[in-house]
Amino acid sequence: MVRSAVRVVLRTRPTSKFAEDCIKMNSDNRSIVLSMPKREGLGVVNHQQESYNFKFDSVQHNVGQEKMFETCGEEMVRNVLDGYNVTLLAYGQTGAGKTYTMTGGKYTQASYSQRGLVPRTISDLFNMIKAKTNTAVTVRISYAEIYNENIYDLLDPSTQPTDLVVHEDAKGGVQVKGLCYRPVASEEDALGLLFEGESNRAIGEHQLNKASSRSHTIFSLSLESRDGVEGQERVLLSKLHLVDLAGSERLSKTKSEGSVAKEAQYINKSLSFLEQVIIALGDKSRDHIPYRSSKLTHMLKDSLGGNCKTIMIANIWGESAQLEETLSTCKFAQRMT
Ligand code: ADP
Ligand code: MG
Repeated sequence: MVRSAVRVVLRTRPTSKFAEDCIKMNSDNRSIVLSMPKREGLGVVNHQQESYNFKFDSVQHNVGQEKMFETCGEEMVRNVLDGYNVTLLAYGQTGAGKTYTMTGGKYTQASYSQRGLVPRTISDLFNMIKAKTNTAVTVRISYAEIYNENIYDLLDPSTQPTDLVVHEDAKGGVQVKGLCYRPVASEEDALGLLFEGESNRAIGEHQLNKASSRSHTIFSLSLESRDGVEGQERVLLSKLHLVDLAGSERLSKTKSEGSVAKEAQYINKSLSFLEQVIIALGDKSRDHIPYRSSKLTHMLKDSLGGNCKTIMIANIWGESAQLEETLSTCKFAQRMT
């Protein structure tokens, strides 16, 4: 069997209307069964059910933020300090809990315990750095948004998307030219930039009339670790990308007109390019990986597959009205494993 390039974790958003009849969580905490009314053509076939089995690396049903960090975050922090490039992607339909998982929602109001993976990762990373007394680690932060295949700098909204260009160096390292990579000395500095980026995103959303569910955001921590072994300085470069993907829902044809249709096309395309890249990475017979097919995969080129660590959190919203999207998210996530 081909070794997958990605670890896939399924997370359910808590709801009092959970469709227990249709979504069965197995006790192994790794697999689920979806039962859907059978469809033929356009209609539902009376009383007939179709069942789908899905298996993931882990299923987190109704768990809190701390448990999610234990499941996904701690390992990422260890990996990036060991010199790996790491990418974590939150996938799912709008409303399924991607942003709650990543940042913890509107953390200005949220209690401390609801903090998401990004602030917890920042906190853990700086604690670990403090404990590494023989290593000097410089951390830089960038925060980008991709909307309709344009890159925006959430840490400097005055930068025009045309001035932001994905650049690969001779060694295959990727940077976005024109994007701010701001050095931070502490957890407080880093959280400050997260808040700054979030508020710039909200302002841009208003000015450009773009919904946050239609863009990808990429919060990145780049590390430069220096230590001295027998008088020889050693420098290790690594980075960690935390990605809140655009909503995966397919817009109905009637709703998709004009600019909305354009947005939907960009999202569908970039999510399917992401899928193609990840599938190609898991297939050892493939020598061409189509990273350059989208801004997102190009930006993540040196942090997916190969010697990198990739985690995908597939967020599902287990209410009966959302079953079609849940099925589509599970199918997408399954193809990644
Ligand atoms: P998305 O970013 O995928 O569109 P959100 O993260 O905005 O979804 O979640 C939609 C709503 O559900 C928000 O009000 C959020 O606070 C709530 N929510 C999502 N996941 C959870 C969770 N695990 N626990 C509590 N509330 C959640
Ligand atoms: Mg969101």
